[in-house]
Amino acid sequence: MRGGKWSRFLVFALVMVFVLGTVFSAQADSLDDYFDDLEAIEKRLEEMKAERQKNKSELDKLRDQLEDLNREIYNAERELAKLEEKIAQLEAEIANQEQLIADIEASIAETEERLKIQTEYLEQRLCAMYKNGTVSYLEVLFSASSFSDFLSRFSFLRMLIESDTELVAEIEETKAGLEADKALLDAELDKLMLRHEELDASRAAAEEDRAALKKKAARVKELEAAVEKELDKLNKGIAAEEADKKAIEKEIKRLLELERVRAGEPPSFFTWPVPGFDRVPYNITSPFGWRTHPITGKWHFHSGIDIARYNREGQSIGGKPIVAAASGTVDVVRNYDGGGYGIYVLISHGGGYQTLYAHMRYTTVQVGQVVQMGDVIGVVGTTGSSTGNHLHFEVRVMGEVQDPLSYEYK
Ligand SMILES: [Zn+2]
Repeated sequence: MRGGKWSRFLVFALVMVFVLGTVFSAQADSLDDYFDDLEAIEKRLEEMKAERQKNKSELDKLRDQLEDLNREIYNAERELAKLEEKIAQLEAEIANQEQLIADIEASIAETEERLKIQTEYLEQRLCAMYKNGTVSYLEVLFSASSFSDFLSRFSFLRMLIESDTELVAEIEETKAGLEADKALLDAELDKLMLRHEELDASRAAAEEDRAALKKKAARVKELEAAVEKELDKLNKGIAAEEADKKAIEKEIKRLLELERVRAGEPPSFFTWPVPGFDRVPYNITSPFGWRTHPITGKWHFHSGIDIARYNREGQSIGGKPIVAAASGTVDVVRNYDGGGYGIYVLISHGGGYQTLYAHMRYTTVQVGQVVQMGDVIGVVGTTGSSTGNHLHFEVRVMGEVQDPLSYEYK
């Protein structure tokens, strides 16, 4: 009998040791896990930040390169434009030269025509005089009426021939002059053509240079885009890791705080009981202390603060979640309307600290429940002695109400 009792107690004690041990070691484990996670995140963040720095300096270098290349392209284009202008000028000169040559060629053709006609005249006259024309010339001469008439006719013929000969010589001289001029013009044109060829070659080279520069710039731009993409990815990765880090740090704080509460120590800080409605004094419609009661109109002491109105998104506070300001155990839950507080919850923390949440629409916790800082315990309503949706929040230390705003909220 006695042994049975003892062994039952032993089993109970062992079970308790096992359960509590598991709870506490699980607690310790998860804290250790969080610290390990944090360390891993820190390491990854360090690596990513180093990588980001590397990418940033790479981007700076590429941008400098691109700037240089763009300047070079600008210069190459200006050089090309200059060449184009020179070529256009030269082409105008060549056209002019060709016109001059065409003109001189026309003059030469004209001179040749004149020469041909004049030579023909001369030949005709000479033929007439010395060959088949002998008879007729003799006829002309012998048909002279007198000797003097014969002489005058003879000298007239000789004069004609002499003048014809002179004229032919003159025309030949003119032609030779024109041809000499043309030769000069041709030589000049050859020079211009040569210059044109040189300029064409320069232009081709300049175009090649520009094409090469543009290709290089396009490549650098591609690299720049790739590095920018990489940087974007890194920034996003870093932001994600930092968000994780923040969440884990918050979790660690909560767990440490819970440990403090379990050890019976007072909370070292609070979290704002209606998340998002934390603009002080904007969301405080009634502070802690003496005031005229909004319903009774009597001078009385306000035992907490009233949190109301809108959050930054413009949403009204009614129906918004209320969270435990610190970790602890739910001591009182009043689930029916009535009395000053209406539906309310009282939570005991360590070190004689308590928080109270009044005028709730409804609660989501039960008496004896262990809650962690930030856990939802109910939603904002207007039960009890209230003129509208708001949370009446109280902090008590050893049963004495304190100004909730004298504590730190994280
Ligand atoms: Zn109040």
